[in-house]
Amino acid sequence: MRHLIRFLYVLFFVPQAIGDTVHYTMDIDIQPADHRLEARVRLKLPPTMPASLVFRLHAELEPVITGGQAILEHIDAGETGDSHVPTRSYRLKLGNGQREAEISYSGTIYHPIKNLADNYARRFDVSPGLIDTDGVFLAGSSYWYPVIQQERPVSFDMSISLPEKWHSVSQGRRADTHNTAAQRWTEQHPQNQIYLIAAPFTEYKGTAGTVDTLVFLRQPDQALADRYLGVTEHYLQMYEGLIGEYPYSKFALVENFWETGYGMPSFTLLGPRVIRLPFIPYTSYPHEIVHNWWGNGVYVDYANGNWSEGLTSYLADHLLKENRGEGADYRRAALQKYADFVDGNNDFPLTEFRGRHNSATEAVGYGKTMMVFHMLRRMLGDEQFTEGLRLLYADYRFRNAGWAEIARTFARVAGQPLDTFFSQWTTRTGGPRLQITEVSVDKTASGYRVTGLLHQTQSGRPYALSVPIALQSEGHEQAVWREVKLTQETSEFSLALHARPLRLAVDPAFDLFRRLHRQEVPPAISQAMGDKKVLVVLPSSAPERVLTAYRQLGKSWQGGRDSDVELIRDDELVTLPDDRTIWLFGWNNRFRKAMDKALEGYDYALADGGVTIDGQALDQSEHAVVAVARQSGDSEHALAWLASGNTAALPGLARKLPHYGKYSYLGFDGEAPDNILKGQWPTVSSPLTAEFTGSPATIVLPPRKPLAQMPGLTAAPE
Ligand SMILES: [Zn+2]
Repeated sequence: MRHLIRFLYVLFFVPQAIGDTVHYTMDIDIQPADHRLEARVRLKLPPTMPASLVFRLHAELEPVITGGQAILEHIDAGETGDSHVPTRSYRLKLGNGQREAEISYSGTIYHPIKNLADNYARRFDVSPGLIDTDGVFLAGSSYWYPVIQQERPVSFDMSISLPEKWHSVSQGRRADTHNTAAQRWTEQHPQNQIYLIAAPFTEYKGTAGTVDTLVFLRQPDQALADRYLGVTEHYLQMYEGLIGEYPYSKFALVENFWETGYGMPSFTLLGPRVIRLPFIPYTSYPHEIVHNWWGNGVYVDYANGNWSEGLTSYLADHLLKENRGEGADYRRAALQKYADFVDGNNDFPLTEFRGRHNSATEAVGYGKTMMVFHMLRRMLGDEQFTEGLRLLYADYRFRNAGWAEIARTFARVAGQPLDTFFSQWTTRTGGPRLQITEVSVDKTASGYRVTGLLHQTQSGRPYALSVPIALQSEGHEQAVWREVKLTQETSEFSLALHARPLRLAVDPAFDLFRRLHRQEVPPAISQAMGDKKVLVVLPSSAPERVLTAYRQLGKSWQGGRDSDVELIRDDELVTLPDDRTIWLFGWNNRFRKAMDKALEGYDYALADGGVTIDGQALDQSEHAVVAVARQSGDSEHALAWLASGNTAALPGLARKLPHYGKYSYLGFDGEAPDNILKGQWPTVSSPLTAEFTGSPATIVLPPRKPLAQMPGLTAAPE
């Protein structure tokens, strides 16, 4: 039946014809030393488009008609609108029956790289468009070509003249250019914008089936290129098997001249530092590759919410973790981020996600969306879920899709409506909060019966949930899974077992999107970083030079937009307030005892001239240490400690800290500083578990099969 329905659908389905794009034939001459470009652009309009249109162009570029019967008219006084560069708008009117016109322009595009900060001053660099001797970065947001206002998909055929030894990269295929110095890129499939990247690159080439794999590096490095070419081939084959044919004729890794992690159609632009980190080929890199299916293959209907980041994260980041048996850890970290950074004030439904600009938007737009696809997979099973992905890709390749199209596609595969599922997860803010009460065990004729009440305690309507429960019983190595339907505020459950149950855990593998209890997750750096109010306590007994270095670190955190960070000396404070997160700085902070007390029960001990954490000795004079506990008065707030014997390590530590958000403790060595210790405190007493014997028993979850096997791609160094 399902197949018949799909067949009918296909009959009525009219894909967007390739002839529907505005086609650009471009001759571009780049002069980096002068920040300048010269362009001749022939526009060809599709038959469906009116002969009068409005486009915007960078204000430094003055267009004139150089071919075709057309009139060009400047229609505003240089207002910029919502763009990051100055632009001007023009009306182009084609003569009767005309479909083509040629426009020429030249001028400079030079917007030097700006350094911005998010919470806790995590820095990142941006430029909306740049032609320089280091390289060229031009995107739709640079308005370096006539950008038509009606948001028409575009296709292009571009010739580029560059200084000697320079290489260009754009979307699509590089065409042969025999006997000319110009390089040529062409893409016939509908695109949202046209990119032009160029620099004096060294180029490396490989293949993956019919797809060209390319690496463009700013310094020759055969070993680095080989590493990327090797994994690219693996990934392309694996994802073609999982989702469907790769939509472009090449994939290129391009080294940028500032730190970025951008995924463009058929290439990725990574910064020089990022590209050389040993774990990137197994983390950010596959993520950017998968964007060619989701985001740059199936386009996002942004007005209805950006689903592509969450799906890409699920099929790249999560899948790699799953292959290492760490899927539950990954999901717990996502839920932890949501708990730490998102509250009633900054939450929003997935239909309103456009892109991330801080930890809260990331926790919702990436994390919650990722969990929605995980729950969808659990509901449908791996086979139907994969079938849905393949169908979504096949039907919407090079077209826009939103949550409604995703819901319809998966409903067709499932043979049942999924409206409740998608509407509760994509149009509501927040998530369920679970609780169990009155759990007890009874002996029955055939074994045992575990009964209890399952509640959802969040405000607002109850969610329709299928809650996984794991039961560990006597004489069994692994727990068994049961599902309990919870559609009201409270549901009674009754689970029969043959062997004597030892322990019960509600959703121990973090399969549901929900608001975690603090006790389900270890105290972590992200909790300390996510708090809205932070007090940094400086060590007054430290030498002036050291005190100054700590103060500078604290001040750098004040640059963030989301947290209110206050600084105080420890001799100006009588007691530590417990209505906010406290950061104690320094080995000899007057309030260190509060930290030692908060960490009682964990693998943490004072040692001669330092501390020992998880068996690792950290020395006052050599090492830097970070440890996080919870405020005893209010577990919503963290009590954190940061100390370094070497003040030169502090700036590096500040830069690295946001990347270790999920950890409870860290140790560093040297000035870089290099990480030598990281870990999470064990979670001791989750309110979502029940113990039946009085003696502690652990839940051992049976291993699960990942959505797809990734042989040879999981041995990533951390
Ligand atoms: Zn992404």
